[in-house]
Amino acid sequence: MSYTILFPNYTIGEDAFTEIPNVCRQYGKKIAVIGGKTALSKAQAEIEAAVKGSDLEILDVLWYGGDATLEHVEELKNNKAVQEADMLFGVGGGRAIDTCKMVAHDLKKPFFTFPTIASTCAACTGVAVYYYPNGEFRDLYLSDIPTNHIFISTKIIAEAPEVYLWAGIGDTLAKHYESVFSSRNDELEHFNALGVNISAMSADPLVKYGEKAMADCKENQTSFALEQAILAIIVSTGLVSNLVINDYNSALAHSIYYGATALGEAMEKHLHGEIVSYGVLVLLTLDKQTSELERIFKFNKSIGLPTKLADLDITTMDELDIVINKAKDTQDLVHVPYEITKDMIREAVLTLEDYNKKMA
Ligand SMILES: [Zn+2]
Repeated sequence: MSYTILFPNYTIGEDAFTEIPNVCRQYGKKIAVIGGKTALSKAQAEIEAAVKGSDLEILDVLWYGGDATLEHVEELKNNKAVQEADMLFGVGGGRAIDTCKMVAHDLKKPFFTFPTIASTCAACTGVAVYYYPNGEFRDLYLSDIPTNHIFISTKIIAEAPEVYLWAGIGDTLAKHYESVFSSRNDELEHFNALGVNISAMSADPLVKYGEKAMADCKENQTSFALEQAILAIIVSTGLVSNLVINDYNSALAHSIYYGATALGEAMEKHLHGEIVSYGVLVLLTLDKQTSELERIFKFNKSIGLPTKLADLDITTMDELDIVINKAKDTQDLVHVPYEITKDMIREAVLTLEDYNKKMA
């Protein structure tokens, strides 16, 4: 039986958008742009300037609707400019880009992504996450067709609030440790092996350049370090996500995140990637990866990512029990190299608490 793997192309740099005509002209002429409000305020003028004087034409620039819902996807599919367009441009963070993707997949049109923050690998992947109109998670829109090309303006990302980069770094680190862990002992087909092997590029450059990248982003300054961090978050992680089966895309670090969401409002001020980065430390403790634990613990400390329960405002054993009960029930713990029990998670969390005291 044959299979097909599709890769996204990308351009990165301060003036990445100037490549739009060269890249896009082979897909037609007419473009509909779909984006978030803030994202469009940062990127629209530059996209228009790049298109001006070329064969390309922007038919309309549309707000994605404020959340990635099937309702907004339907509305956009009924939009005249979207229907007439030869290609779609998705501009924003995760949700605007995911909305554009779903419209493109449904209408079978090529799409291009313009990430304006480096917080997730959404700009690189085919899969989209969608929500109910009340904001609750609904499902994944699965597709193996990634973006045709990612245009990554390091200038726009450097000017975005650094908190997105910070959380993006936390989530990206997990991709390496979770994919290596959940695929351990399996006989890997080429695409899975390829994905798991390149996942080191989701961790090593961040440990090396993450602190400098954060400092540069805070100063709204593009730099080599910031570019390496952006590439780890968007490209390396996106390629891993596209290549490996879903079983390998997440493990204990993400189940700790979902577990923490069971604490409700109290957890809302903590970002996804922030909580996941704590989950990475729990995974490394549970799996007794001593030297990696030391490395990532020090790294988390260096940029203020959490290393202990108090950093996430989890202060009682009752709260911890709620987190662990929910974490144990998540899909992320179904495909792991050995059974992970609630007691094992609790023991790892408490061992990590002691480790914090030792390292203080
Ligand atoms: Zn994540």
